[in-house]
Amino acid sequence: MRKLIAGNWKMNGLKADGVALAKELVRRAAAGSPAPDLLLCPPATLLTLVADVVAGSNIRLGGQDCHTRQRGAHTGDISAAMLRDAGCSHVILGHSERRTDHHESDALIRAKVKAAREAGLVAILCVGETAQERDAGRCLDIVSRQIAGSLPEGLSAAELVIAYEPIWAIGTGRTPTPAEIAAVHAHLRVALEGRVAGAASVRLLYGGSVKPNNAWELLRIANVDGALVGGASLDAADFWAIAEAAA
Ligand code: PEP
Repeated sequence: MRKLIAGNWKMNGLKADGVALAKELVRRAAAGSPAPDLLLCPPATLLTLVADVVAGSNIRLGGQDCHTRQRGAHTGDISAAMLRDAGCSHVILGHSERRTDHHESDALIRAKVKAAREAGLVAILCVGETAQERDAGRCLDIVSRQIAGSLPEGLSAAELVIAYEPIWAIGTGRTPTPAEIAAVHAHLRVALEGRVAGAASVRLLYGGSVKPNNAWELLRIANVDGALVGGASLDAADFWAIAEAAA
């Protein structure tokens, strides 16, 4: 399967640095070298600017969240239709920072995945356990419950990407062992069967402290079809090194 390397810029970037980062990645992409599929998920304020920069390149654009409705009286929110209109092809949903900061439940995330699909966006659904849950041996149980609770019926593989992001690995420099990641991804593959048409071809990303120095090893694990990259996606050289490791 062709790998996907997605950069989650989170709440980082003003106009000048966001545009400069995107321009540098477009320059590197144009210069060649076999690249995987690349996706940038800047903050909402930069979407249209970055859309202009990546237009005509093979770099695609994603949002970091969407509302369950496409329009209406929801101050401060952004809809999947708006993301699509701004040039997005994807949207990250259920990131652990949103589950924590905004108390997002699986049921809410499920409604957001539906909204993304209605608007023609690919949902990147994030799942993952806390350190306590892992220590208690509940990791597989937690991700199964997140998958069961967050996926609407009738999705096909082309409409969905799953990102396994252990919460304790995000921004910490710690990662699970390759064997631990392989076990979760194999489990996710099975969990998708019967829920998603073409489950075998849903891309399963690993996320959590992916850096240039560990990307090669992480991206060679069975059933790891790419990476969701936070901190290292804010540096063009680091993000590009991860993309090259995937190629
Ligand atoms: C993330 O939050 O999606 C993430 C993977 O962050 P980091 O790469 O910084 O751990």
